[in-house]
Amino acid sequence: MRGGLEDTICAIATPIGEGGIGIVRLSGPHALVVASRVVRLRSGRPLSSVSSHTLHLADLVIPALDGQEEIRPGHDRTRVSGLLDEALVVYMKAPRSFTAEDVVEIQSHGGALVLGIVCNVCVESGARMAEPGEFTKRAFLNGRLDLSQAEAVLDTIRATSSAGLNIAQRQLRGDLAREVEQARTSLLTVLAHVEAGIDFVDEDISFVQRDELARIVRDACAVVQKLEATAQEGRILREGARVVILGRPNVGKSSLLNCLLREERAIVTTVPGTTRDVIEESIVLDGALVHLVDTAGVRETDDIVEQEGIKRTRVAQGEADLLIVVVDGSVPLTSDDRGLLSAVKDRKHMVVLNKADLADAFESDTALAGISSYRISAKTGLGVEKVKSALRAQLVPGGIEATESIVVTNVRHRDALRRAGESLNQALESVRCGMAGELVSIDVRAAADALGEITGAITTEEILGRIFSEFCIGK
Ligand code: GDP
Repeated sequence: MRGGLEDTICAIATPIGEGGIGIVRLSGPHALVVASRVVRLRSGRPLSSVSSHTLHLADLVIPALDGQEEIRPGHDRTRVSGLLDEALVVYMKAPRSFTAEDVVEIQSHGGALVLGIVCNVCVESGARMAEPGEFTKRAFLNGRLDLSQAEAVLDTIRATSSAGLNIAQRQLRGDLAREVEQARTSLLTVLAHVEAGIDFVDEDISFVQRDELARIVRDACAVVQKLEATAQEGRILREGARVVILGRPNVGKSSLLNCLLREERAIVTTVPGTTRDVIEESIVLDGALVHLVDTAGVRETDDIVEQEGIKRTRVAQGEADLLIVVVDGSVPLTSDDRGLLSAVKDRKHMVVLNKADLADAFESDTALAGISSYRISAKTGLGVEKVKSALRAQLVPGGIEATESIVVTNVRHRDALRRAGESLNQALESVRCGMAGELVSIDVRAAADALGEITGAITTEEILGRIFSEFCIGK
């Protein structure tokens, strides 16, 4: 990202297209001066005289450049009249703004042309267009948000289920950061003691005893493990769970999918970054997003096309958080059914006996002994509610309310926690083996640094670049 914090940046902060309102946002030391070029308050007062955080009615105008030609929007050759639109303008004085800098937001009507011209005028007047995520990056660099909170801003924008939103909001309020920082601070304190012990062995400086060191490292380790353990559920709550429906042809897989979709279809239908040749639809079950994947029927076959479908089914099967095996309950189990039932037994799964509106054929089939199954009819809807509650219970065992506690949803955080955990275990091992403090401190330092990556206390331009490039411009 080019440019320093001394630049004043601007961008359209609302989605491009027709909208009732569109917002151009300016942030930086010259936000007021730049905005003054395009804003004429109806009160006749200069923009610089308004109180912070108050809203003012204004005309937006295209200023003449030093008495020369008026600014033209983009490559448009037509001359735009001086009056552009009317707007509401708010000034948020540093540090009481999102970026902790001087911010001006201009709320005009939401046409792409008006907003584009306002940005052009701002750029002509000394601002520069913001990079993706640059407002949030500034909030981080200015200490308004830590890195995990900045990421939560993006999670909030992208949330597709109330559970995902709930977690993002807790993270935005700093819950994860607090817990991580606490563990990191205790490690840094113990590190200072250990290092004092190393540097001044000959002097009479007290440093933590071995037991005390082990205790603090063990405590930090427990925190790290506790957080890491939430990551699986966290991913499901944030991105949604992948549930793959399996079964031989014609048992009613598509019918079950349609049955579930009928009532709960979600707005989103894709998981970011994935395209598959299997049918995928999403539903929201009690606030939790679930991606349902319908697959090619699995059976022994010589047909090449069918074999390809089955291959893709196997891939989907491998990536699933939960498998639903559908069998046709109106006929005896076939060897394909048995094959599937035994293939999923070590995975999180549920068995659905479909077509219960027809005859029950396998009441006593041994392949189903000890397996809890759900008798349903995708045709009449019988038993489908039970399948839904079972899905909920299996995917989010703690319930959506689990989001009351801290849940790790971000892969970057999970990776940092894993590394921190490894280093802490190594440190404990070194303590146990009676290694020198110097050696122990290397691992404790590595753990503290890994934790620091989560909040951004330890970070690199590369990490920041990667995180903020995912944001949209204007955020
Ligand atoms: P898939 O190949 O496993 O996806 O199966 P489909 O969902 O396409 O269903 C195959 C056939 O079984 C269709 O004719 C459905 O109408 C029928 N079918 C599906 N579910 C039921 C059910 O619960 N009861 C009855 N009687 N027929 C069903």
